[in-house]
Amino acid sequence: MSATVFTDDNPSPFIPVFAPPAVTFVRGAGTELWDTDGKRYLDFLGGLAVIGLGHANPVVADAIAAQARTLLHVSNLFANPVAIEAAQMVNALLHEATGLDGLTFFCNSGAEANETALKLARKFGGRGRHVVVSAYGSFHGRTLAALAATGQPTKHEPFFPMPDGFRHVAYGDVDALTAAIDPSVSAVLIETVQGEGGVIPAPEGYLGAIRELCDERGMLMMIDEVQTGFARTGRWFGFQHADIVPDVVTMAKAMGNGFPVGAVWARTDIATAFQPGDHGSTYSGTALAAAVVRAVITEMRRIDAPALAAEKGAYLSAKLAAIPGVVSVRGQGLLVAAELGVGGDAKTVCNALLDNGVVTNAVTGTALRFAPPLTVSKAEIDEVVQILERVLA
Ligand SMILES: *Cc1c(COP(=O)(O)O)cnc(C)c1O
Repeated sequence: MSATVFTDDNPSPFIPVFAPPAVTFVRGAGTELWDTDGKRYLDFLGGLAVIGLGHANPVVADAIAAQARTLLHVSNLFANPVAIEAAQMVNALLHEATGLDGLTFFCNSGAEANETALKLARKFGGRGRHVVVSAYGSFHGRTLAALAATGQPTKHEPFFPMPDGFRHVAYGDVDALTAAIDPSVSAVLIETVQGEGGVIPAPEGYLGAIRELCDERGMLMMIDEVQTGFARTGRWFGFQHADIVPDVVTMAKAMGNGFPVGAVWARTDIATAFQPGDHGSTYSGTALAAAVVRAVITEMRRIDAPALAAEKGAYLSAKLAAIPGVVSVRGQGLLVAAELGVGGDAKTVCNALLDNGVVTNAVTGTALRFAPPLTVSKAEIDEVVQILERVLA
């Protein structure tokens, strides 16, 4: 297997926040990746649910090249037509999903999208009403406030003291959430499927109950669609499965198909709690990122990406469930986890899959995560399922 191994003679140039990688990839196309030795892999992780339209997608590549030769950036002291069009396209998607009119802020990542939502909750709630409740097992990003919202105490501990104003409750437990609400709470931030937390879909009725609670208590329902959004679950957004309408939606990952871009959408009356000077980013709506968003939405609409995710997701899930050694399969669309059960060792299986040319990840100690491009073929799914069957046997 081809990895770039760092030694005393060849030291790593990186700040060591990531474990040493197992493979060095140099090229991709669709679902396929190639390493430095020219070995082929099937990418069933999609760069952590980012590569919705496949690697080196020609529509996205052409959009980047054309925009790079036209205009990259002008700052937000000025307008650029690409950002306006991209924001209108995001607003149209969310209008179709919610029936509501809203406004978009562009940023560069999922963490920044959540930071923006957290600040918006504070501005909308007003002084004394700044607390945001989120779930244990959630993941909302690595910046300090997004980390504070992330319900993983072990990730907080090295960085104490954490920012004030965050509470966590068990995911799926409506009573616990209700008990955590007092007049200082401005918003609930929730994932429709906990992605990093182990691919845990919201229990039936949970999101609807949160919506009711938010309506009763005048709190914002903010949904983190960074991993679930942009067709991954078989709908444009994960919340559509629950038939609810959120107030604020954060997105990133597949929105850029590998180009770093994120966004927050909020209902217009909420979004306008922000006034000029309240928030910003040098790269908000930069023309290059906006050109990518425009290309991704256009292409996802053209191929009906949600329908592809639903169809291929059902196919993959059924095939995985039939493998001896897989005790259960969970998820939505093409965000899927195969549970190996008590005694299962997902890390070892994941490494063996990689040796055999399949990229996945151990999302828990006993579960493998699959998030291939939505353009994945049935033949590619069959190939991966056969390899997994062999590895588990
Ligand atoms: C990945 C992820 C984030 C963080 O996104 P970054 O782009 O890494 O900052 C936030 N929320 C969810 C649900 C995610 O899956």
